[in-house]
Amino acid sequence: MMAPTHFVFGVTTALGLSQLGWLEASIPVFAAAGFGSLLPDIDHPGSVVGRRLWFVSIPVAMIFGHRGITHSLIAVVAISAAIAWQTGSQQWIVALAIGYLTHLMGDWLTPSGVPFLWPNRRKFVSPIGFKTNSIAENICLVAMIAVDVYGLRG
Ligand SMILES: [Zn+2]
Repeated sequence: MMAPTHFVFGVTTALGLSQLGWLEASIPVFAAAGFGSLLPDIDHPGSVVGRRLWFVSIPVAMIFGHRGITHSLIAVVAISAAIAWQTGSQQWIVALAIGYLTHLMGDWLTPSGVPFLWPNRRKFVSPIGFKTNSIAENICLVAMIAVDVYGLRG
């Protein structure tokens, strides 16, 4: 899944949750969801986040490899613990965690899959999905942007 699709998936999810009243509707919350949706790829120095935080990205990539620990249930548990630990007053942290989870879901939809059981290297792949940067992915991207624009109009 491409970075723009990850980003829009994270923001769209946060927007949907805010529409349901489960998440604060604010720019910091949506920005945190967008950042969280790019964060797992910090294990790739060529990624959007990896290029900016190269001093974290390069060591993580060398130690764990791309789609390693940052794409695992260990990361999900750590992120979920962060959510559970929050009282709701720090909505941006919750949004960041939600964005993070949408990234893993997004990668799960691609043939490369996600090593949920890392350090076991087995990759889990959704039975229904699409190739990265395929027509299907781009249709999903445009559809989510349309939903966002519609949602933001109120
Ligand atoms: Zn990824």
